[in-house]
Amino acid sequence: MTILVTGGAGYIGSHMVKLLQEQNEEVIVIDNLSTGSAKSISEAKLYIGDIRDKEIMTNIFTENKIDAVIHFAADSRVAESVANPLKYYNNNLHGTATLLEFMVKYGVKYIVFSSTAAVYGNSETNIITEETKTNPESPYGETKLAIEQMMEWVSSAHGIYYTALRYFNACGAHESGLIGESRNHETHLIPLVLQVALGKRKKINIYGDDYATKDGTCIRDYIHVTDLANAHIKAVKWMKKYKKSGIFNLGNGKGFSVQEIVDYARKVTKKPILAEVDSRRAGDPDKLVASNQLAKEELKWVPKITKIDDIIKSAWKFMNNFPDGYGG
Ligand code: UDP
Repeated sequence: MTILVTGGAGYIGSHMVKLLQEQNEEVIVIDNLSTGSAKSISEAKLYIGDIRDKEIMTNIFTENKIDAVIHFAADSRVAESVANPLKYYNNNLHGTATLLEFMVKYGVKYIVFSSTAAVYGNSETNIITEETKTNPESPYGETKLAIEQMMEWVSSAHGIYYTALRYFNACGAHESGLIGESRNHETHLIPLVLQVALGKRKKINIYGDDYATKDGTCIRDYIHVTDLANAHIKAVKWMKKYKKSGIFNLGNGKGFSVQEIVDYARKVTKKPILAEVDSRRAGDPDKLVASNQLAKEELKWVPKITKIDDIIKSAWKFMNNFPDGYGG
């Protein structure tokens, strides 16, 4: 198969590219390198540009016979989306509309879309199924949900099949330790905690210890990036085999508190890791844990790296190899 990976130089995208290459699939990447790094996909055929740019999209679709698209290219910072919503409507929605236009024009029938648990927002239920009411609380979540809906309309009008994968907390790094999570403005818990262990940050702020959880800190479902990537390949095969579209949660189905993550990180790194309780961060729900039953049943997807210490270990290996990210 020839697969176009949009946003393939980003964190999850680069793991996707690696997995496809390991499985001997043909991979084409488009990435505008706004947050990604070409160093994370050294062996892939890379088009540097934006999915909204019709000239580069024409080149990609005429120069390659694409069988399926795996679509990551998007802006993905919740706080930034609240401050600058139009950036998100423009890049995420307009970008995907352009991509779908090209898929329709060139007869590409399958798309896997990188969606998010942020479409559920501050949910009343703690274990979230795909039936849980959507209630996004940021332009980021809104645009991801709107894209799911856009794909549904395009699917019924033009016979395209789509799979939307709603990720919970993506984390970890490839077993080689050569690719991983590397951002200029890091906001995610695990890399931040590990930066403290590495001595690049003085302390980790724990955002609130008065939540309705066992230790008062927020509980999240941490899912390894390689398991996420695996689900995308399964989704392409599922769509091709059954000629169906679908929406699936991707999580481990098990929650860890912020305090537990800090404790596990201390164990893995053997570093003290200074942590201080800070005030709550706006919009954080107490507990978000996925029901992953549907993905297991339909896609036959089973997460493999489920132990939290193994997940943290993989991120720690990458961080030791690239203490200053890909630029270092
Ligand atoms: N968190 C924290 N300190 C930090 C970063 C995150 O306490 O410096 C908490 C955050 O409030 C949330 C959890 O860690 O409860 C996971 O946050 P992250 O930003 O990694 O992912 P999110 O759940 O927001 O997608």
